[in-house]
Order: sequence, then C-alpha cells, then structure tokens
Amino acid sequence: MSELEQHPADSPFHARLPIGERLEVSALTEGLPWAFEQIVMRPLEPMLVPEQPRNGEIDRSECGPCRTSPNTIWHDDLWQVYASPEPGGLPFMAAISPREHWLLEDAPVEVLAALGPLLQRISEAVKTVPGVARCHFGRWNDGSAHMHMWALARPRA
Ligand SMILES: [Zn+2]
Repeated sequence: MSELEQHPADSPFHARLPIGERLEVSALTEGLPWAFEQIVMRPLEPMLVPEQPRNGEIDRSECGPCRTSPNTIWHDDLWQVYASPEPGGLPFMAAISPREHWLLEDAPVEVLAALGPLLQRISEAVKTVPGVARCHFGRWNDGSAHMHMWALARPRA
C-alpha cells in the first residue's frame, strides 16, 4: 500500500469533534444492555485525509471479490455469496457481492434490481440454520472497493 501524505480532515463535522478526549459510551452500555457491560474508549484521534485506498481501489488484481473463491456457496450471472470459512461468533456469516467489479454508485440497474430478491432468499435461507432467529444485513464499504454486503445470522435469544 502506498504512503499518502495525510492531514486532519477539515469540515464542520470534524471541527466539532473533541479530538484528544474520550467519547461518551452510555448509549452502548445502557442502550444495548445485552451487548456490553463496560466499554473504554481511546481518546479520539484526528481523522486523516485523504483516506488510504480500499482493497481493489487502485489495483483490481488486489480485489478479493473479483477472484474466484473456494468459499463461494452460491452464484448466478450477477451475484455471488461467500460464506465465512471458519466458525465465528455467529452461527452464519456471508459476504454478498456482484460477480463483476461494481461500486454501488455505478452498478447497472439490472444488477441492483436483482439484489432485492437475492436478499429475500438469503434471509429465508439463513433463518433455516439451526439456532438462528433472524438475518441481519450490513454494508460498511470500507474494506474493499468492490460493492459488498454482509449477511449476519442473529442467534435465537
Ligand atoms: Zn472487484
């Protein structure tokens, strides 16, 4: 990865951040009582720009979803689903990405239109995994430039 000359981000949002201070966490310890008893935050560091490029952003040969994977559990002409190879903290976790290298911002409408029915199928399939109550979906878009979402099986309470 190349070294970028970074500087603190400058926007009205960034200007009001309490850099060097610890953020208040009661929303996590009191709002999600099933998740955390105690959280200790690090002092907030400046957010630096430009951000480091994501995997596949500069060099497509480094893009994981563009390569075939032994962890692919399903695909059609437009989409593919990779299951997490190792058991983790959830009963099931998978990445959902287009077969071709698209960003959400430039994906063709036929690719995007196929996502809704696919998410419905994945949700129903994940709920058949023993011990699973629901399927959650997430998109953070920070690790890879290739459009991808996560299917996360929420265990039955
Ligand atoms: Zn890609």
